[in-house]
Amino acid sequence: MVMAVAVFDPSFAASKRSARRQVAPGPPSPPPRRWFGSVAVAVALVGLVAVIVLGITAETTRALALPGGVATFIGSLTGLAGMYLALVQVVIVARIPALERILGQDGMLRWHRRLGPWPISLLVAHALFVTIGYAQASRSGIWHEVDALLTSYPDVLAATVGLALMVMIGITSIRAVRNRMRRETWWAVHLYIYLALALSFAHVIALGPSFVGHPLVRIVWSVIWAATAGAVLVYRLVVPFARSLRHRLRVVEVRREAPGVTSVICSGKHLDRLAVSGGQFFAWRFLTRELWWQAHPYSISALPRPPYLRLTVKAIGDHSSAVARLRPGTRVAIEGPYGAVTAHARTHQKVVLFAGGIGITALRSLLEDLPRQSEPVVIMRASSEDQLVLRAEVAELVRHRRGVLHEIVGSRRALASTKELLRRLVPDITRRDLYVCGPPGMIEDVVAAAASLGVPKRAIHYELFSW
Ligand SMILES: Cc1cc2nc3c(=O)[nH]c(=O)nc-3n(C[C@H](O)[C@H](O)[C@H](O)COP(=O)(O)OP(=O)(O)OC[C@H]3O[C@@H](n4cnc5c(N)ncnc54)[C@H](O)[C@@H]3O)c2cc1C
Repeated sequence: MVMAVAVFDPSFAASKRSARRQVAPGPPSPPPRRWFGSVAVAVALVGLVAVIVLGITAETTRALALPGGVATFIGSLTGLAGMYLALVQVVIVARIPALERILGQDGMLRWHRRLGPWPISLLVAHALFVTIGYAQASRSGIWHEVDALLTSYPDVLAATVGLALMVMIGITSIRAVRNRMRRETWWAVHLYIYLALALSFAHVIALGPSFVGHPLVRIVWSVIWAATAGAVLVYRLVVPFARSLRHRLRVVEVRREAPGVTSVICSGKHLDRLAVSGGQFFAWRFLTRELWWQAHPYSISALPRPPYLRLTVKAIGDHSSAVARLRPGTRVAIEGPYGAVTAHARTHQKVVLFAGGIGITALRSLLEDLPRQSEPVVIMRASSEDQLVLRAEVAELVRHRRGVLHEIVGSRRALASTKELLRRLVPDITRRDLYVCGPPGMIEDVVAAAASLGVPKRAIHYELFSW
């Protein structure tokens, strides 16, 4: 464990007096604009309808009546819709800030997984129907037609490789398969989606009945693709790179908080201009020989106090364990801030925060962003007392907001049911917003208990510390 001079006062902002001694945090992240979400959904639906209309109007009744006409038509239509939905999938994960602020990490993953099976199934159907249709038209066998398509039609071979990559990505997304893979392998496999889409682009333009002889449609389609690629490039690469260069974060202290739990304090430039809210997280890339190639999500465990920024990490695997061995001076690159579990999500004045284990990090920084009138009821749950990390800071922040802190220690099985716990500790829970952070099983449990006590969905905000 590397220790350096304590440069970061953890009691900051807990009380007015200590807050005065500290530099004020930077601005909060901008509030989500809900209307943008509705506009985005409307645009995506209009786009889908337009693509279907385009596919239908490209066919003539004469072509449909020819041998293979119907199968080729179905193939074209499923191909167009599949490619369009694949683009929508890419837009969802492009981390476009206006969308990210509404969906957050969890919403983004939920939508991505919900939509996921569609583009792949439609594109597989496209390949099957087009092959059948072409075989019927040329009165040849399926395998003969497969050979003809791969060897004599422009760009079909590349598109087939693209489809194979998409199917591979689809298989690795099935929960049972995903759970057996390392997150880094899964992520690397998913990167092939960009190659798959690039390989498929040319054959659509060259062969699609909606595109051949329709220069305007070609231009519009190309612009949509270029815009999607541009969004990925800007928000996943350029912005994080520029932000990391601008703030030039370096580790200044590595502090042990509890057995297996470490805080890393980074120092950087212009942090007073870094718009981040309590409850948000960054993908952190520590630029050491061991860790530079992987970025992991960790919440800020305190609002930035320029020039300092803190994260607190529980060791559960390779990356989170290596964090405790970081040395002062290590450079740090960041991507984010991300996450929608912020004070902006509040629908009531009062709140209840429920943290499972290391989930307290996000709620600890969120607490700082909450006004005094929020009178927070904070429930910290941990398997043992020494895992109630940051408890002194949390206690002071709660006290300053005239709230109540409950510390619940013990294995989940040994404790009372979550519903009973919430009913007893938060009798006015239906008049509060509920924020939950921690492992997936606990979140499911707390969300279900709150819902059964009558807390509406819009007042429940959670961040899964998992993928
Ligand atoms: C939004 C968010 C905020 C988080 N904040 C914190 C925090 O403040 N403090 C903290 O200690 N932990 C936090 N985590 C969890 C942390 O990201 C994982 O514990 C860490 O990435 C594990 O990596 P590993 O290599 O040590 O372990 P591994 O053995 O690789 O992974 C162990 C488990 O961690 C999860 N995980 C691994 N990599 C990722 C990833 N890139 N994205 C999401 N989940 C992953 C998976 O569920 C996996 O099964 C957060 C996770 C998320 C999604």
